[in-house]
Amino acid sequence: MNCNEASALAVAYADGEVEGARADAVKEHLSTCADCAAACEAVRTLRSRLRAEIPVYRASPALRARVLAAATAGAPAASSRVPSLVAIRGSAAGSGS
Ligand SMILES: [Zn+2]
Repeated sequence: MNCNEASALAVAYADGEVEGARADAVKEHLSTCADCAAACEAVRTLRSRLRAEIPVYRASPALRARVLAAATAGAPAASSRVPSLVAIRGSAAGSGS
């Protein structure tokens, strides 16, 4: 693995999203390349700072219940809220010269 390949996978690797032989290849590259190892460490440091410093807001029980009810009730038909492309095209053709 070269630096271009490693840098393309650095964020995913730092997040634990690279598995198997690819993860092994990234790990091996990081053990021999100070630049890529530093970039990977920077991603990990940023992630841990974000988790530590950004507040997490929890939805109130009432809001949680409303969102769950809306999600389980199913979304209304798209045509009732957003005009279809056919309707838009038809109105545009009707208003033209
Ligand atoms: Zn490298």
